[in-house]
Amino acid sequence: MRDTISILSERLKKREISSVELTKAYIDAISSSDLNAYVHTSFDEALRQAEEADKRLKEGTATLLTGIPMSVKDNISTKGLETTCCSKMLEGYKPFYDATAYAKLRAEGAVLLGKNNMDEFAMGSTSETSYYGAPLNPRDKTRVTGGSSGGGAAAVAAHLAAYALGSDTGGSIRQPASFCGVVGLKPTYGAVSRYGLIAYGSSLDQIGPLANSVKDAAIVFDSIKGRDFRDQTSEETPYTVSDKLEGGGKGLKIGVAKEYFEGISPEMKGCLEGAIAFYEKEGAEIVPLSMPSLGLALPAYYIIACAEASSNLGRYDGIRFGHRAAKYESVDDMIARSRTEGFGKEVQRRIMLGTYVLSSGYYDAYYKKACTLRKQIVAAFDGLFSSCDVLLAPTSPNTAFPLNYTGQNRIEMYLSDICTVPVNIAGLPAISLPCGKDGKGLPVGMQLIGKKFDEATILRAAYTYERGERQEVEELEGGVL
Ligand code: GLN
Repeated sequence: MRDTISILSERLKKREISSVELTKAYIDAISSSDLNAYVHTSFDEALRQAEEADKRLKEGTATLLTGIPMSVKDNISTKGLETTCCSKMLEGYKPFYDATAYAKLRAEGAVLLGKNNMDEFAMGSTSETSYYGAPLNPRDKTRVTGGSSGGGAAAVAAHLAAYALGSDTGGSIRQPASFCGVVGLKPTYGAVSRYGLIAYGSSLDQIGPLANSVKDAAIVFDSIKGRDFRDQTSEETPYTVSDKLEGGGKGLKIGVAKEYFEGISPEMKGCLEGAIAFYEKEGAEIVPLSMPSLGLALPAYYIIACAEASSNLGRYDGIRFGHRAAKYESVDDMIARSRTEGFGKEVQRRIMLGTYVLSSGYYDAYYKKACTLRKQIVAAFDGLFSSCDVLLAPTSPNTAFPLNYTGQNRIEMYLSDICTVPVNIAGLPAISLPCGKDGKGLPVGMQLIGKKFDEATILRAAYTYERGERQEVEELEGGVL
């Protein structure tokens, strides 16, 4: 069995191991790892938090998450610990407050090991745009982890953290989860507070867990969800999900929209067809569906995400936030130089694209049209969910790219987001879980998409599959201990 939160928590409660010992084991594993999954570590503080957790375990005030070592993506604010979005722009920046999602975990006694590598400002699908260099995929070190939460996915897959918090604007939790063979949950827009998450595309961004099992993802989601007065888009999910996983496949209506399967390799298709057959055997009803507007999601996403990014990243001008150039001739020159030096090429490209689509004369042709497409996509999902409870799809049209591949094939990288971005456009919840391997032995991810605030049903469907078909994730079995 892999190290899951339930297993580790059981061992902590039985005193087979202390949180300090467990934390030390993770620290040793991180120190001897060459995956570049972490960009800032907080080992001393982690050991202090572990001592505190051991006290709670002794007193009997522990929860499932108390004393469990975890990690956080580098765009989620952690008080006093560098939070740089893996950009030169924010090098050395230490927030003076915690993001709500992380604060909620800390309140339960979580132990923070450090911050995970990612694409700069969460822009990318390989984590290679990181200022600190790319993390490596633990399943095959010549391949990327996926992105942008690549460091977190690698850390969880390689037992360098029991679970991680990531963020998903257009697939950044689900796609690296699929590339690294772990579970990733992108919650409903608003289900988890974005307070303290450094913004990329504010109408799309969501924080969620990367974990070793569906149950772990549910446990973490239960802890971080909820209304937060500091994020006016957040809402209460008035029930817990981790106690609703047992329903099985019976009575579930699983929709399969054929457009999601166009252009994926026969091997990947085989894995997903195997999952469909499994659900049928479990008593679920498979509903064949069609979503002709699926292809519209990608152009709409890149216009909306870049437009919002160009506005959100305006604050990094060397005055209010971020790197300031050493030499300049005027205020304008200082801002231009600071931004040129501080931002990497991919971020600059997106700021320029976003500024262009919002500029007068082009606003109607691009941004406004993208917003119209967004409404069509929302309506298309509403239509699909009138005849099913869950949609089953690939997480990505491909498995992990070789390192340095998409740098030359940028359009291919953008196109590879086709299966994940529609969910963000519509604000829906979705989970990616391992469902077999391709011919090269690389993990294939299955995506289950649900109705708004219906995380419970996708988690139940995912749990049913995971329990029935645990063939995957074999070679990294074992864990940190
Ligand atoms: N790959 C997508 C992008 O580059 C999604 C990134 C994300 O979800 N943060 O925008």
